[in-house]
Amino acid sequence: MDFFEEMEARIPHGKTRTRFAPSPTGYMHVGNLRTALYTWLIARRDHGTFILRIEDTDQGRLVEGAVDVIYNTMTECKLDHDEGPDVGGPVGPYVQSERKGLFGKYAKLLVEKGGAYYCFCQKEDAEEDSSDENPKAIKKHFCACRDMSAAEAQAKIDAGLPYVIRQRIPQEGTTTFHDASFGDITVENKELEDQVLLKSDGLPTYNFANVVDDHLMGITHVVRGSEYLSSAPKYNLLYHSFGWEVPTYVHCSPVMRDAQHKMSKRHGDPSYEDLIHEGYLTEAVLNYVALLGWSPRGELAEQEFFTLSELAEAFDIAGISKSPAVFDIEKLRWMNSEYMKKLSPDAFFEKAEPWLKKAISNPAIDLKAVAALVQSRCEILSDLPERVDFLDQLPEYDPELYVHKKSKTTIENSLETLQSVLPVLESLENWTNESLYETLVALAAEKGVKNSIILWPIRVAVSGKASTPGGATELCAILGKEESIRRIKAGIELLQK
Ligand code: GLU
Repeated sequence: MDFFEEMEARIPHGKTRTRFAPSPTGYMHVGNLRTALYTWLIARRDHGTFILRIEDTDQGRLVEGAVDVIYNTMTECKLDHDEGPDVGGPVGPYVQSERKGLFGKYAKLLVEKGGAYYCFCQKEDAEEDSSDENPKAIKKHFCACRDMSAAEAQAKIDAGLPYVIRQRIPQEGTTTFHDASFGDITVENKELEDQVLLKSDGLPTYNFANVVDDHLMGITHVVRGSEYLSSAPKYNLLYHSFGWEVPTYVHCSPVMRDAQHKMSKRHGDPSYEDLIHEGYLTEAVLNYVALLGWSPRGELAEQEFFTLSELAEAFDIAGISKSPAVFDIEKLRWMNSEYMKKLSPDAFFEKAEPWLKKAISNPAIDLKAVAALVQSRCEILSDLPERVDFLDQLPEYDPELYVHKKSKTTIENSLETLQSVLPVLESLENWTNESLYETLVALAAEKGVKNSIILWPIRVAVSGKASTPGGATELCAILGKEESIRRIKAGIELLQK
């Protein structure tokens, strides 16, 4: 067996094999996370193999710790891989830079097969794309090297002339490829560039490396962003020139910030880590991202909430949409709040505790009780500190807060209420939400007034806020008797001024 036969022999056949091939940029775009998720779902749905390949050949873009971001995200999201740099597998290595040696061999093989040629012009694509008259126009590379004989090319190589290897694109005819969501796409070959496959430093371009790697890893479904759609005909021609089977292409439409703009980290749109940092739950983000560009069909058409394993059963490529999806942060907030409600009290407390501690340092306050109070009343965890900070310290507040139309409270009747509840509360022994509530409701009945006439002023007095998580008696229970009474007395003083 020669080298190429050995490489072919390693490729597993017969099962779905998908790959997520991130470049280590240091963050996970929402769009990338979606690609990772869809890729994983296709593999899991088919009981196939999910591969992680790190595409680090663009050394200029390397960022320290960036590979860890990829691993951490995949682990947090429970998108486990069967083959990859850390777990190995039959078609490794799984880090593109460790595969460097391969690409030169395959580029030369392609020259032999007629699908590529040595080019000695010493201009790489980027330099030749514009001209003085029309700087924006793409000028196609076209040179005599394309027709140079093999012997002439070899003589130049032997003489030490630097070269690149370019793809030989047919000058006539069309290329048609099929995409699972976009359908058949046909382009004129004369529109396609004889792109560089191997650079003069012997390293592959991304466009070459991904085709060779996908083939050698036996990838059956290539899921990627639609920004690669325009390169797909060239990839297709590469597969054909090698005589390799073309994988199923699944291009996903971009994730948009609004109707005109793609989401971009550079323009301040959140990455996956940003969202987690802001207090979104991984499960909610994944659920939301799954629906950004894919919709369940049939019986599940109306379903919005999916666990990962439900998604793995429901997911089908046909449900992926061609139209760009707009990232709607309000919808994500809502979905997140629903996920928070569904957590067990202990699981919620575990997530909420670090956020509550940012706002509450008073050891007398039971953070578990605070968590129970806010669990069904917050959308994202980072909202918590600001919602509960009044428990730590009573803020200065405007007495106008006591005036509440719906509760029928005024400055005067609020003062009267606080003065009359004070002795009642001072003598209350069982300081729980329930007994506080019973006591105050009984007091309202005795006075013949609406409950809110009593409860609203107490709520304002103990919180100093117009909006609180929980009502007057819940807040008093958390604050404890002494602190609640202190705050009510302070309220009386404020109203007397
Ligand atoms: N490394 C490429 C990226 O991060 C992957 C593109 C692909 O999936 O083919 O954009």
